Amino acid sequence: MSGIAPAAAWWRRLPNGQAACDLCPIGCRLREGQSGPCGTRANRGGVMRPLHYGRVATAALDPIEKKPLYHFHPGRDILSVAAPGCNLHCLFCQNWSLSQEPDAPTRPASPADLVAAARAQDSVGLAFTYSEPLVWYEFVRDAALAAREAGLAVVLVTNGYLNEEPLAELLPLVDAANIDLKAMDDAFYRRVCKARLAPVLAAIDGFLAAGVHVELTNLLIPGHNDAPEAVDRLVAHVAGLGRPPTSAPTTRPGACRRRRRRARRCCGRVSRPPRGWSGCTWATRRSPTWTAPPGAIRAAPPATRCSSIAAAAGPSPTCARAPPVPAAAARSRSAPDRPGRPGSLLANTSPERGGGPPRAP
Ligand code: SF4
Repeated sequence: MSGIAPAAAWWRRLPNGQAACDLCPIGCRLREGQSGPCGTRANRGGVMRPLHYGRVATAALDPIEKKPLYHFHPGRDILSVAAPGCNLHCLFCQNWSLSQEPDAPTRPASPADLVAAARAQDSVGLAFTYSEPLVWYEFVRDAALAAREAGLAVVLVTNGYLNEEPLAELLPLVDAANIDLKAMDDAFYRRVCKARLAPVLAAIDGFLAAGVHVELTNLLIPGHNDAPEAVDRLVAHVAGLGRPPTSAPTTRPGACRRRRRRARRCCGRVSRPPRGWSGCTWATRRSPTWTAPPGAIRAAPPATRCSSIAAAAGPSPTCARAPPVPAAAARSRSAPDRPGRPGSLLANTSPERGGGPPRAP
């Protein structure tokens, strides 16, 4: 290990002298002199140390499609680097001589060295790949920062097995990732990879939420994860990524109309069109928000239309009674607009300061 990194990130000293690692879901408690099963961190003198900070085992200029990334700077080359170690122990690993050999030979390299090499070779950026970059955490973080400052893209090729907080700290420095989703089967992860599925799924969500360009890899292993129903499960999960967490079907427009009629009958204060209508429904030619173009004989309504507002405010058209507005809401409706206190969330809404809702750039 070089002397560049004084201590690892994301660990705690325990009263018994052990070092607790908070980097990945394995959650090691390491005694003095002991290394984690990832082969990248060790308790040295009561302090967690990153074993490969400033050391590189391999570096190559690869086509970015080899990462594989097919929709991120296609056709470009990227400088790809790795250190030994991985926190998974997949029985099918294709890079085991690097990922499972913590003592694989390395040579010194600083973040600035990598940036200079990438520029010299017209690389689109830096890719941390071949073994597991997330447990090379401190060096990847520092090299990613240097790459960003140099205008280079940062790519991770990863198993996605990291705790939420360290991942959230790293992701603002990452542009693209290829994440291994090895199976939609926790038993497979336990049996074949010595890991769990849930943290990987959470990490994929985290990458997407952070706006990172994500592509997924699923390596098919005959007899272990290639059954049609296993692939269907994985594909169904991937198809649902980034969508609202509901499996309910779309509400049918007829159901909306029936409920609105029922509400009108029951309480008499849900107004008829044009004062009230069903929101976010398909528009029809009877919709108060759609008008046939002049001269049209059988004009079809627009394919979809997201109208809004269910019930009109104000007195009921049938009984003239005011709707039951809570006192606090009534006060806020009648209060004049005013700027918030300095330092409050409303501080910038003063008209004098160019307030109002934020505008799109
Ligand atoms: S990163 Fe390594 S040392 Fe830390 S919990 Fe994971 S396997 Fe253990």
